[in-house]
Amino acid sequence: MIDFASARRRLVNSLKDEGIIRSDRVERAMLTVPREEFLPSYLRLYAYEDTPLEIMYGQTISAPHMVAMMCELLDLKPGLRVLEVGTGTGYHAAVCAEAMERRGVVYTIEYYPGLALYAVQNLAKLGYLDVVHVFIGDGSKGLPRYAPFDRILVTAAAPKIPPKLFEQLSSDGIMVIPIEEGLTQVLYVVTKEDNMPHMKPVTYVSFVRMRYGEE
Ligand code: SAH
Repeated sequence: MIDFASARRRLVNSLKDEGIIRSDRVERAMLTVPREEFLPSYLRLYAYEDTPLEIMYGQTISAPHMVAMMCELLDLKPGLRVLEVGTGTGYHAAVCAEAMERRGVVYTIEYYPGLALYAVQNLAKLGYLDVVHVFIGDGSKGLPRYAPFDRILVTAAAPKIPPKLFEQLSSDGIMVIPIEEGLTQVLYVVTKEDNMPHMKPVTYVSFVRMRYGEE
C-alpha cells in the first residue's frame, strides 16, 4: 500500500519551500484533495510526483506546482463564482473548490465529453458536485448563461485572450491564462482596467493547446 497522505504532505512541504504555496488557503486545499483519486489506477503511483501526467485523449493533468501556483494567483476566497476552461480530470476544479472552503461555485467546461464524464465521476465520488458544475463544450466561448465570473482559470494554452472570456470576467475579476507566444507559452494574470485587458506575465509554461475558434 502506498501512503498517499504522507506523500501528499511531503509534496506540499516542498512546494512551500519552493515558495509556490504561499497561503494557508492553498496549502489546505492541496492537502485536502487526493490527487490519486483523479488518476487512472496505473498512474496512481505517480500521484505525488510534481509532474504533469498524460490521461485520455492525449490530454494531461497539470503538475501539482502549476495547480498551486494558479490557485495562488487567482486569490480564491469563499463565495466566488469561478469559471475553469479545461476540466480534464476535475482535480484543479476540486482544489479551487477547497481553496474557497467549498463555498461558492466552480463552473468548469471540457471539450471532450468522455473527459467531462470522467471528471464528473471523480468529483461525485469525493462529494464535490454541489460546488463544481461540469459542462461540455468549447470553453473559449465561456459560459454566457452563468456570467459574469469573479475568476477565470484557463488550463489549456490559447493563441490570445478569448474575447468572450474577457467579456465574461467581472470588472474586478482575475483571469489566469497561458498564452502561446511563438514556440513558447507564457502564463498571464489578466485584470480589467477601463474595460481593457491589463496583462501581467508570470512565467513560461507548457500546457496542452486549447481548441480554439472551431465551429
Ligand atoms: N485542469 C485539468 C487539466 C487540464 S488539461 C485537470 O485538473 O485535470 C487541459 C484540458 O483542456 C483538456 O482536458 C482539454 O481537453 C481541454 N480543452 C482544450 N480546449 C478546450 C476548449 N476549447 N474548451 C474546453 N476544454 C478544452
